[in-house]
Amino acid sequence: MRILIVEDERRLARTLGDLMETQNYTVDLAYDGIEGLDNALSGIYDAVILDVMLPGKTGFEIVRAMRAEGLRTPVLLLTARTELDDRVHGLDAGADYYLTKPFQTQELLACIRAITRRQNQARDNALSFGDLRLNLDSCQLSCGGKSLRLSKKEFDILVKLLSNGSSVVTKETLLLSVWGYESNAEDNNVEVYISLLRRKLHHLGSRVTIKTLRLLGYQLEDHPA
Ligand code: CA
Repeated sequence: MRILIVEDERRLARTLGDLMETQNYTVDLAYDGIEGLDNALSGIYDAVILDVMLPGKTGFEIVRAMRAEGLRTPVLLLTARTELDDRVHGLDAGADYYLTKPFQTQELLACIRAITRRQNQARDNALSFGDLRLNLDSCQLSCGGKSLRLSKKEFDILVKLLSNGSSVVTKETLLLSVWGYESNAEDNNVEVYISLLRRKLHHLGSRVTIKTLRLLGYQLEDHPA
């Protein structure tokens, strides 16, 4: 899963980023409201952590702009202020949860798990397609009685494919959501990981395949027995 953290206190932003990475999230950081809004509007994130007081745009303005664009990405607002008004203001603007600084890291992680789980609408925190089931907590991919663990990139790619069911996912979407804007990853990185995933599906004996649509992208296909 890919998380955007918008926080102008750089040290805190990096600490939070490192923390999220230990939990297998892919993290992008933005240090001001303008860049944060730009990134958030890309729609590639599974959750956004927003500081309220930011240069350029406030967290309130960012979440309001996201909702106005129809983005339903879960948003967690962080603030040093504790006034009830601010909390109400943030939730009214469309945030999903509010955390007051300073907070315990465990509390932050629990919030992120809760809001992303709600987003995936999977009570047991798993995504399924055909005979495949991907556990989002353990990165275990299972089929029938067999299961194996995916690498982080394989996991991120498969989450994107599974979330789209049998719809086509473009290479560009995969590049942006798995590698991000700042990386030098190219189309063939995607191809390498798709072929690793295909090998794993084959190993599991799954009836699901990943179809390549030339110039378009990839699509999951279920081949019922
Ligand atoms: Ca701030």
